Amino acid sequence: MRAMLKGIAASDGVACGRVYRFVEPDLTVKKRTITNLDYELNRFHQALEAAVSEVETIETRATKSLGADGAQVFSAHRAMLQDPDVIAATETKIKTEHVNAEVAFATVMNDFAQSFLATDNALTKERTSDVHDVVKRVTAHLLGVNLPNLALLKEPVVVVTHDLNPSDTVSAASKYILGFVTDLGGRTSHSSILARSLNIPAVVGTQTGTQTLMDGDSVIVNGSTGSVVMDPDQAELDTAKQAMLDRIANMKRLATLRNHTTTSRDGVGVTLAANMGTASDIPNVLHNGAEAVGLMRTEFLYMDSEQLPTEDEQFATYRQVLEKLAPRPVVIRTLDIGGDKPLPYLHQKQEANPFLGARAIRQSLAHQNIFRSQLRALLRASAYGNLRIMFPMIATLDEFRQAKAIYDDERSKLTTARVPMGKIQVGMMVEVPAAAMLADRFAHEVDFMSIGTNDLIGYTMAADRTNQDVSYLYQPYHPAILRLVQRIITAGHAAGIPVAMCGEMAGDPIAVPLLLGMGLDEFSMGAGSILKTRQLISQLNAKDLQGLVESAVNSADTSQDVITMVQAAVPDLPQA
Ligand code: PEP
Ligand code: MG
Repeated sequence: MRAMLKGIAASDGVACGRVYRFVEPDLTVKKRTITNLDYELNRFHQALEAAVSEVETIETRATKSLGADGAQVFSAHRAMLQDPDVIAATETKIKTEHVNAEVAFATVMNDFAQSFLATDNALTKERTSDVHDVVKRVTAHLLGVNLPNLALLKEPVVVVTHDLNPSDTVSAASKYILGFVTDLGGRTSHSSILARSLNIPAVVGTQTGTQTLMDGDSVIVNGSTGSVVMDPDQAELDTAKQAMLDRIANMKRLATLRNHTTTSRDGVGVTLAANMGTASDIPNVLHNGAEAVGLMRTEFLYMDSEQLPTEDEQFATYRQVLEKLAPRPVVIRTLDIGGDKPLPYLHQKQEANPFLGARAIRQSLAHQNIFRSQLRALLRASAYGNLRIMFPMIATLDEFRQAKAIYDDERSKLTTARVPMGKIQVGMMVEVPAAAMLADRFAHEVDFMSIGTNDLIGYTMAADRTNQDVSYLYQPYHPAILRLVQRIITAGHAAGIPVAMCGEMAGDPIAVPLLLGMGLDEFSMGAGSILKTRQLISQLNAKDLQGLVESAVNSADTSQDVITMVQAAVPDLPQA
């Protein structure tokens, strides 16, 4: 029996290849007294040279995949590495204080960072994170350790990592990434959502992946079953390679649906939309034939930075997204921090239950300066495309009314100042069971509702979406969830407003027939799931599915009952 690592099946498909550990090495340095100054100066220059050449490679690749704007950060890194003042100050430190190059360079760069922090210019302050990146790179070369970077990949690999951050430039490197294995995360964590949007097979939450798997190990990642086979034999490799080829052929077939609209076999039209996190997702959204964006999470704009982004920085991003995706409608969600997405520089209080704490709209209403700045940026950007604004985690009507009143206030101030703005729909996420139960009341006050099943399932089943120990309770097809979903759709339609879903359930093949049968208007999902969902819907008869919905909602006792009913009603369903 082969050694096998088990995790959570996070993104479909099989990948086989060699492991690339994307794990930051230990970069702790000790202060040493130097006697051979020439040797130390030489060591410093060699490390600097190696770092410059590495950054140049990253810069060239980033320019190709992200354009000059996306690569700007790396040209800033290169400029710092080649700054004559920095080089001279480090040399002087080595010569006069007899300290090792690691300490000399880090001290000089830290002084540099302090001077950035002392300015009033937010953009200059931003540069402090660049300083830390540059110090890390040079230190790694001085210590002779490898600082992994996805932008340096030259051949296809299976990336093994602790967890993925929004700042890991995964999209740009995706053509070299065969699969992902992570220690942390669940099906709805950032890494999983990202892997699915890029169509890369992934197993997350293995807990020990980074300890067990070493650079160059041969593995098979099965993102549909959640297993990682270590050191597979030839027969296993052959089967996996065939599965990879079949998948590529299927993706090619699906690509022909890219410019189609989405209609069921009996002519019911729905909108297939994409979820996105940063402007770098735009090419992937377009490439997968999204008809709209049903959710742009704005957290990453805030998490990717060392302090709050300014109104102008946000405006530039929102404008870019709206312009490039026009005339498609784009739903941008206001900040949803807290829970599994803390913002370290806000110094939020430690909470015993962050998912039940000061999260999302609760934070926005408590820190109105941050909320107002985001709303102003959105309102100004609305002139450049088809914007819809959505508030997250609404639990009570009071919360929605307060948020809407602040929006109206900012809008009227900008109108007085004659700032051009577009027509904007304002809606809410329904992801708290209280809001789902009161959907009929909300439906009269909002322009649209979007069901956030990632949280709605967690809150309804009382099962933390990131906790592997209770993942067996995290059941999207549970009749209790289906009843809530149906209730929301019915309430929206009774009030004449559209209902969307932007939780991961919207792209799940078992859920899709049920949602179509319930009359969901818009399905928003990781871009990588759009084409297969379009194909699936084109094979379904929406009217016939009403009977299935009726039995799943009213006669099923368990999730398994629902799965059995769906599979009986829709034979040949693709795997979840
Ligand atoms: C959701 O809860 O379903 C959702 C889409 O929001 P997030 O995953 O960002 O919490
Ligand atoms: Mg949510």
